[in-house]
Amino acid sequence: MKPIPFKEQTNVAAETQDEYGDLPFLDMKGKTGTIVSCWGLSEEEIAEVVKTGKIWVGLMCFGNPLTPSLLTVNKTDLFETTTIPCTSCGINDVEGIVNMVEDNLVNEKECKDCDSVK
Ligand SMILES: [Zn+2]
Repeated sequence: MKPIPFKEQTNVAAETQDEYGDLPFLDMKGKTGTIVSCWGLSEEEIAEVVKTGKIWVGLMCFGNPLTPSLLTVNKTDLFETTTIPCTSCGINDVEGIVNMVEDNLVNEKECKDCDSVK
């Protein structure tokens, strides 16, 4: 199982840390600080999940308390995309992210027209 890039990702972690693989992620920037990543399964792993119905999870906590974790096969349990007016010009529509964990709108973006002005 490996982290895979996804359309809504906002960043990539551990790109310069050889001991870890790259982790594309979406920072939902809410009160819970929820970070979303997407993991792809190989053919063999898919067959094993079908057979056992199980996925094992290892979290490196470095002595810190265990963080609340949620695994799901439906990204809409974590976030949904929506169309909202550009936060800068308010004219053009841009893609926004709804944080389903906290039920609020996050990750607002400016439109291409506003980007090109800067
Ligand atoms: Zn704009």
